[in-house]
Amino acid sequence: MTQHTDPDVTEFREPDPPDPGAFVELQAGILWIRLPIPGALRHINTWLVPGRRGWFLVDTGMRTDDVQAAWEALDRRLPLASGLESIVVTHHHPDHYGMARWLSERYGVGTAMTERAAAAAAAALQEDPRGRGQPSDGFAERLGIELDDDMRSILRGGIYRRIVSGQAPALPLADEVSGWTVTVHEGHAPGHACLFNAEARTLISGDQLLPTISSNVSLYPSNEHGDPLGDYLASLERLSALHAGTTVLPAHGRPFRTPHARIEALRQEHAARLERIRECCMEPRSTQQVAAMLFRLERLDALNRLLAVTETLAHLRRLELAGHATREGTAGTLRWRSN
Ligand SMILES: [Zn+2]
Repeated sequence: MTQHTDPDVTEFREPDPPDPGAFVELQAGILWIRLPIPGALRHINTWLVPGRRGWFLVDTGMRTDDVQAAWEALDRRLPLASGLESIVVTHHHPDHYGMARWLSERYGVGTAMTERAAAAAAAALQEDPRGRGQPSDGFAERLGIELDDDMRSILRGGIYRRIVSGQAPALPLADEVSGWTVTVHEGHAPGHACLFNAEARTLISGDQLLPTISSNVSLYPSNEHGDPLGDYLASLERLSALHAGTTVLPAHGRPFRTPHARIEALRQEHAARLERIRECCMEPRSTQQVAAMLFRLERLDALNRLLAVTETLAHLRRLELAGHATREGTAGTLRWRSN
């Protein structure tokens, strides 16, 4: 969630990004579509990629009236009714998955996702924000984080259902889609898929590798005993095997051709944050205290406060698993201490 610009990452200055409802043609006949997102992120890129019979679409936009209007405008400009052969969703987050059901029903095509991504979408759609016995119950208390009602509602999927058009008819995502190799990456979201085309030396990276913002890596109730930051760093290691000069088509920002510079910058950013947290925990601190030392929590809205605290937790968990920090006490008395 840290906003910064990396001078070593060369984003495409040309062509200009498309307006909502329009598209721009890139290399290998790929059509770049940009859809609006309310708030700081502002947009998501989605891609219409030439397939065996027509196009497959990668990611779909959040379910809002503006995004629906953009798809209706695109429908007037492109032969989607006859040309769309399938939908691939990289992961279950609402800006990627939100319009999948609407588009699937409109065009009579399935939505292909990894099994873990489909399960995450189903779980987020089913969780009852007011019900008991939810995975999020007790999470904040156990881990020493303070949640207000808005943050709790987000954690329980209260917003998700409003910006997702429902559960899409899911198809299993094969290892290969029309010549594009599918690889699965953890850390940002369960079962996040990236697509790589060796011939075109192009990676569709979803949220796993972004040019100017770091992907959110958080510890959530569904993965309380996992290691999301360790998983994310392992994914960066795999992505570093890409050829230099690979074109990366990210879900946010502009396409870029310097994956290695970006991967290195992200590694350094996480290493610096881990080091800062170790320093913070020379004195035993609660999770909430550590988050408040890293982020100006009082200036953030509920969603970003939740991301700040759960990102802090992901880093604390990595330090714990690496043997660099230990938790002492439980629930209200939980404190983290550097070793
Ligand atoms: Zn995401």
